[in-house]
Parts: sequence; structure tokens; C-alpha cells
Amino acid sequence: MSEIRVSPDQLRGLLARILGGAGMSAANAEIIAGRIVAAERDGAHSHGLIRLAGYLSSLKSGWVDGRATPAVEDAAPGLAAVDARNGFAQIALAAGTEPLLAKARANGIAALLIRNSHHFCALWPDVEPIAEAGFVAFAFVNARSRVMPWGGTRKLFGTNPMAFACPRRAGPPMVWDQASSIRAQGDVLLAAKRGETLPPGIGFDAEGRPTTDPGAVIAGGAIAPFGGHKGSSIALMVELMAAALTGGRFGFEDAAAAFPGAQTSNAGEAIIAIDPRRVAGDAFLDRAETLMRQLVEDGDARLPGDRRYAHRRDAMANGIPIARTDYDELRAQAG
Ligand code: NDP
Repeated sequence: MSEIRVSPDQLRGLLARILGGAGMSAANAEIIAGRIVAAERDGAHSHGLIRLAGYLSSLKSGWVDGRATPAVEDAAPGLAAVDARNGFAQIALAAGTEPLLAKARANGIAALLIRNSHHFCALWPDVEPIAEAGFVAFAFVNARSRVMPWGGTRKLFGTNPMAFACPRRAGPPMVWDQASSIRAQGDVLLAAKRGETLPPGIGFDAEGRPTTDPGAVIAGGAIAPFGGHKGSSIALMVELMAAALTGGRFGFEDAAAAFPGAQTSNAGEAIIAIDPRRVAGDAFLDRAETLMRQLVEDGDARLPGDRRYAHRRDAMANGIPIARTDYDELRAQAG
């Protein structure tokens, strides 16, 4: 398959035109295009270009409002809330990040609670800028039911990712970002697109029977939680943090079925930001480095996020690799 390299700006411009053509406001389209590009740039393919069709079909279905203007509320000295007004979570986050950081600076800790939002991206871009601003950050997102609780017989939780970011003395933050399912839905979509089967122990079909067919998982089936009952409890916590706490929908309350073609979930997101300087002063950064150095000195261990950062360095120097056929298709879509 022939591959070309495109600059992040070039790709973002194309995607913003396509999303704008599907009814998004120009400002909102720029934000979502930026997220898709960031995922491709960092080699996070399960949330890159493969998601574009899902954005477009969700917009076309009327399930999500591409022109939504979020409403930010000052809920308490340490709490900012945002009603995304049925728009994408990243637009709400863009509106809520400054209030969150201002509250975390003033109080040492603050939370941002987003409801009525559609999160269809990777989660690390939500927390990386918060850590770049000097805060430790933790984020939780829920989504429509796709995960079977441990010991259950039907899907209940979303794939419910969490992300954690820690500032570093030099260089980009240490960030991990993971689904509470054993595989992200995006990886199941990629396997289906590539005609691959799933390893055993990952998927269930619509009748709750184990399957290795990604198509059966997508067509009404379910994914297992990671780590058995432990991952199942984490998915439960994420559902409580991102939906019950924010005033958003639980995964099982998803109403997308009334909008044929809708692929996103109307759910919620919670982010906590802590100012590490309040207790440990600048020593926090040294303590964090001590731990991370110990980790990478042992065998093949590496820091989470380092694979992405290596992809990012390559893409920033040489352009983002993309299949020529995909690029031609994007140009045609962008008109
Ligand atoms: P992965 O299992 O691929 O990776 C999880 C984390 O582990 C990453 O931070 C990764 O860093 C790190 N990691 C992987 N291998 C190692 C290793 N050998 N040593 C140390 N760290 C390692 O992620 P998932 O499949 O669980 O999730 C993929 C994406 O799906 C996430 O971005 C998530 O936010 C997204 N998602 C989004 C949802 C939504 O509703 N919006 C729902 C569910 C998932 P690195 O990247 O550097 O490899």
C-alpha cells in the first residue's frame, strides 16, 4: 500500500473542511479536526482517521449538534460544570479548561464536570495540556453500553476510558490513557476493517456468547472488561464519575438508536486537576523523576506515552504517514 506524508496543518485543514461540510460550525470543526490529527500524528490510530466516518454519520443523523455552544457554570469554589448542549466533549472542554485551571490555582485542587457531551476521541489530549500547565490531572469518560460486567450476561458499561497526566521537570508530561475494556472499541473496528479475528477472551456476540469475530462484537455484541472483576469495578467507577457526578447519561441510557447512523454516545466527562506545588513545592517534580528513572532503568520497562511521543517526533519532523488512497479520498470529500 503506497503511503505519503502530510503535514499536520494540511491534514487538519482537510478534515475541518469535511466536518464543516457536514454541518459543524467552523470553530467546532477546527477543534475536532485537531483531535483526529493529533491521534494520527501520535500513532493512536484507533482514534484517528478511522473515526471520521463515525463523526460524519453521527452529525448527519442529527444525534449530535455540531454547532453547539457549551454553557459553563461556576458550581462551587472548586467545581466548574459545563453543559455541552449535545455537542462534542472537546468543545465543552475547550470552554471549561481555563475555569478549571483558575480554580485549581486558587484552591490547590478543582474538578470540571461535563454533561450532555459526545466524546469520540482519545482521552490523553484532554489531560496533557493540564499537566503542561503544571497540574496533575485525572480524567474519566463514559460511553454507551459496550462492556459486559464481570460475571454478567449483557452489556452495561461503556468502554469507559481513564487518563492520568503528570508534569515533568523537562519534556512532555507522563500520560497514560486506557479503556476499562480489554480492547478499545476503536481496535475492534480496526480489526474488522483489516479482516482480522480477535484473540479469544475479548468479545461476545449479541447473544452473549464468546466470539472472535469483530463484526459480531460491533453488531450488538459486547467487550470484556480488562483484568476481570478489577476492570469491571473500574468501569463502574468511571460510569459514576463521568455520568452520575456530572449529571450525564449512563451508558445503558443511551438513546442513539432513535437516530439511525449515530455512532457517538451522549454521556459525560469528569476531570480533576491538582496543584502539586501546594504541598511538595518544586520537590514534587524531582520525586516524580526519581520514580520514573527507576522504572525505565529496569529491563524493557518504558513510560506510558513514550510510544506516542516517538510517533509525534517522527510526524513533526517528516509529516504524518497516511495511505495514498485514504488521502485521495479525504481530498475528494473536502471538495
Ligand atoms: P492501550 O492499551 O493501547 O494503551 C493504554 C496505555 O498503556 C497507554 O497510555 C499506552 O501508552 C500504555 N502502554 C501500552 N503498552 C505499554 C508498555 N509496554 N509499557 C508502558 N505503557 C504502555 O489503550 P486502550 O486500548 O485501552 O485505549 C486506546 C484509546 O481508546 C485510548 O486513547 C482511550 O482514551 C480511547 N478510548 C476512548 C473512548 C471514548 O469514549 N472516547 C472509549 C474507550 C477508549 P502508549 O500510547 O505510549 O503506548
